[in-house]
Amino acid sequence: MGTNTHSPDTDVPWTGAHGTRSVLQKISRFASLESMVAGMGDSPAVPIPIRNTWKAVVDHARRYQDFTYVYPVISRRSRGLSIGVNLNPDKQCNFDCVYCEVDRNTPGKAREVRLDQVRDELRWLIDHALNGGLGREAKFSDAPPEVSRIVRDVAFSGDGEPTMVSNFDVCVEVVAEVLREKGLSDTKIVLITDSAGLDKASVRRGLSLMEAHHGEVWAKLDAGTEEYYRHINRSSVRFDRILGNLLETARVRPIVIQSLFLKTHSQPMSSIELDAYCRRLNQIRDGGGTLREVHAYTLARPTPEAWATRLSAEELSAVAETIRAQTGLRVEEFP
Ligand code: SF4
Repeated sequence: MGTNTHSPDTDVPWTGAHGTRSVLQKISRFASLESMVAGMGDSPAVPIPIRNTWKAVVDHARRYQDFTYVYPVISRRSRGLSIGVNLNPDKQCNFDCVYCEVDRNTPGKAREVRLDQVRDELRWLIDHALNGGLGREAKFSDAPPEVSRIVRDVAFSGDGEPTMVSNFDVCVEVVAEVLREKGLSDTKIVLITDSAGLDKASVRRGLSLMEAHHGEVWAKLDAGTEEYYRHINRSSVRFDRILGNLLETARVRPIVIQSLFLKTHSQPMSSIELDAYCRRLNQIRDGGGTLREVHAYTLARPTPEAWATRLSAEELSAVAETIRAQTGLRVEEFP
């Protein structure tokens, strides 16, 4: 993602929509290959370094062929191939981040999540990756073939907030079932979230189900104060609800914090705000939560709000160093 939205690395608006029919045709075309690819999702002992220059890293479009819900990206944060599951083709989100690239002026193509189609698209794309078909596509061909043959994770992300669906737990079941069927029980299931819905019963059930699949929660936190949160994330959800959800979730399982640092009207986050942000992380830890690490990143490309601009690599490094110094947490930088 170099992420300006929710997807495992970065995101460009996508409007891909298509029917199950063509997907099923492709599935039947590849069905006989399942036995050939079983077990090929194992990770190499040494992770392959992901290069920023690879086409699939530069272009993180969340659109793939005629699919509606599922798409492949090569993600620096996933350290390889991440298969995204977009539960919000309707582009619904309870945040309105200044850096979001989802084009909400154009209506989404699907209003509901059709689980049968999610299942079909996911099955087909996993088979396609494992048998090397993805790596032969122009966009993926300049990366070593192993990168696009190894499914590092399946990530709920997309054009909105995944926890806004009413049946998140069932969506997790579908993904887990397909991973089992494909012999990928060790593949991680990741939820990339703005945290507003982490207190919902179906989401909590979904998170428990994810745990059987090395589940990880990558939760957004871009601010330390309500005021800056309103400035950057422009959500009507109260900031203390977000913080409460982060704490409660991190008390049950280690979570990853994802934070996007940027300039607004040429001004970076103030040192007072950055101190407040670090205090929020410390409060989660002091309250009994476990934070696995912080992903610190900045804008990957220009945003619809021209006054929101990226930090340089050096500026991001300085922010990351402050977080390390004030919290003791591991911070990964994604300039
Ligand atoms: S939380 Fe919503 S508005 Fe913010 S980047 Fe993600 S999809 Fe866009």
